[in-house]
Amino acid sequence: MLKQELQNLSENCYEGCPLPVEHMEVEKNSLDHITGYVREKGFHNIVIIEDTNTKKAAGDKMEQLFSDANTALETVLAPENEHGQVTADERTIMQMFVQIPEHTDCLLAVGSGTIHDITRFVSAKMKIPFISVPTAASVDGFTSKGAPLILGGVKQTVQAAAPLAVFADVNVLRGAPQEMAAAGFGDMAAKSTSVFDWEISRLIAEETYNEWASRAMQRAWSTCRNEAERIAQGEEEGLRILMESLLLSGLVMMTLDHSRPASGAEHHLSHYWELIFLKEGRKQKLHGAKVGVATSIISDLYKGYFTKPEELPVEEPVYKRRLEEHAETIKHWIGNMPSSSEIRELLRKVGGPELPEELGIHHELVQESLEQAHHLREHRYTGLKMLHMSGWGVPSYPFTKQET
Ligand SMILES: [Zn+2]
Repeated sequence: MLKQELQNLSENCYEGCPLPVEHMEVEKNSLDHITGYVREKGFHNIVIIEDTNTKKAAGDKMEQLFSDANTALETVLAPENEHGQVTADERTIMQMFVQIPEHTDCLLAVGSGTIHDITRFVSAKMKIPFISVPTAASVDGFTSKGAPLILGGVKQTVQAAAPLAVFADVNVLRGAPQEMAAAGFGDMAAKSTSVFDWEISRLIAEETYNEWASRAMQRAWSTCRNEAERIAQGEEEGLRILMESLLLSGLVMMTLDHSRPASGAEHHLSHYWELIFLKEGRKQKLHGAKVGVATSIISDLYKGYFTKPEELPVEEPVYKRRLEEHAETIKHWIGNMPSSSEIRELLRKVGGPELPEELGIHHELVQESLEQAHHLREHRYTGLKMLHMSGWGVPSYPFTKQET
């Protein structure tokens, strides 16, 4: 799937230019191919950035492979916070700057999302290229340029560097805890509502749109949905397809230079929860786990409120007219969106949480996020923002309105 999609991606979103990530593989034993690639590129001083878990998952094997290949390799371990979690914050980043030797010519990000966020930022600042070695199919950020960092206790996404290459070893992915793959699945499920948000913004607010990108996201999500059983079983083919879909999603965001097709109101809810957790000093939950749960909530909301878009009491006359004009298209999209219960069932099947309370997110916080999260991206038009603009707002969570 990936090869063909990447070719089309370059043609449809990147004006035919070669993609910035020059090599990507999702295979069994991909780790074995890294030393050869590094040699070919002429790198001699390599540094692995990892944590204690990812060291065990792939770092130790990388050290052995580099030693066998007689290539110098150093490792830098990202520190853990009081919850035993690695955070992309000032302390961690400063530690990287101090520990990475100046003569380093290539970084290897060996880990999941946070290790990649740290590495992509450090890579951009130190002007050292990096290679991505994902240890779990948990998130779509491996191939993106944006690094979400926690600065002064507040989350901020900084544009940084994309990896030069990605080596996703399916054997390593299979060894990761199932909750990680379930999170990756949740991040893909998000595309079922994020593409609707982009579509509605195109129809109502005339936002720039890329048909191919939207369809590619829908195709990738639908492939993952069909693979749910094999992903749930941790089968090689299921994890390969999930990982390829996540990589594609990251690349689509990177080539468009925005996250529109991959992130909508469901991500805004998740970001809002994350901000509250940060403020309260609570242990963070996996990004994709939150996003999957939020997708089910947003689907529930949209299916209840966009069945008759022409009746939404939007005051702005232009928006009102466009809603009437495009009512059939909007209904068609809503009809194709998986229902909240289907999303929950799939999340459960792959081994992830399906309800916010399983993540320690109580109903009051869900309600607050439904009311406030659309302010996080003031200029991003979503179905959720539209409900607020219409004066209807959002009903009390959990919703009682029947799904269609
Ligand atoms: Zn995401």
